Amino acid sequence: MFKDKTIACKDCGTDFTFTSGEQEFYKEKGFENEPTRCKECRAKKKTSFKGRDNNRR
Ligand SMILES: [Zn+2]
Repeated sequence: MFKDKTIACKDCGTDFTFTSGEQEFYKEKGFENEPTRCKECRAKKKTSFKGRDNNRR
């Protein structure tokens, strides 16, 4: 079984929890790398990517 894990975000330095459920999800998807950014920074990255795509068109 997985255990909750605390990771320091690479972008903002905030400690976030990589929950057991998320770890299971990552394994299911075959992701080998653990997340390095907190949810907020990941969400920011996602939206900025989308924004760029929209601007291009
Ligand atoms: Zn962060």
